Amino acid sequence: MELSTATLLNWLRRAAALIHAQRERLTALDAAIGDADHGTNLDRGFTSLLELLPTLEQADAGEILQTSGRCLISTVGGASGPLYGTAFRRAGTALVGHYSVDAPRLLVATREFASAVAVLGKTQLGDKTMFDALLPAVDRLAANIASGVELRPALTNAAVAARIGAEATVPLVARRGRASYLGERSVGHQDPGATSAALLFQALAEVA
Ligand SMILES: [Mg+2]
Repeated sequence: MELSTATLLNWLRRAAALIHAQRERLTALDAAIGDADHGTNLDRGFTSLLELLPTLEQADAGEILQTSGRCLISTVGGASGPLYGTAFRRAGTALVGHYSVDAPRLLVATREFASAVAVLGKTQLGDKTMFDALLPAVDRLAANIASGVELRPALTNAAVAARIGAEATVPLVARRGRASYLGERSVGHQDPGATSAALLFQALAEVA
């Protein structure tokens, strides 16, 4: 099984819908340990992205993600705009010229996505950031592909790993981002960035 560019566009539509539906939850999570704008910011960015998608019907997978990344950088704001925007652009670079994305190439793109967040955010696993959802998801995808699991169930398993990774941020002390200013007071709250990152994988699993 491969993902078509139509599926990638559906992924972005589904991600926008999930973010819109959960914008108040994301903002409430950010209110607890940040500045209460994560849901609002992402919803604004993905709403702008939705308006761009009709112009990308003929684009290759790389252009779809790179254009999406530029849109998110210019519309989301905060720290998550540059992080997600750069991650989309880097993932897109791995997909330039491809109109169909097979499992190995999708794995490369998702690794690029996660590593862009790690590099730009100077973050590692356990810092209570979006990377805590992204890395487990990519690692699960890699393990599933390596053991011959079909792409669709592999993406479902990756989405579960992302959600579990996001939930596992609750007991952590934040070491990066605005939440790190709170130190021990960040304990007991789920990271909003990890939560939105898990929604992106959930959306991909749903449309695959
Ligand atoms: Mg914020």
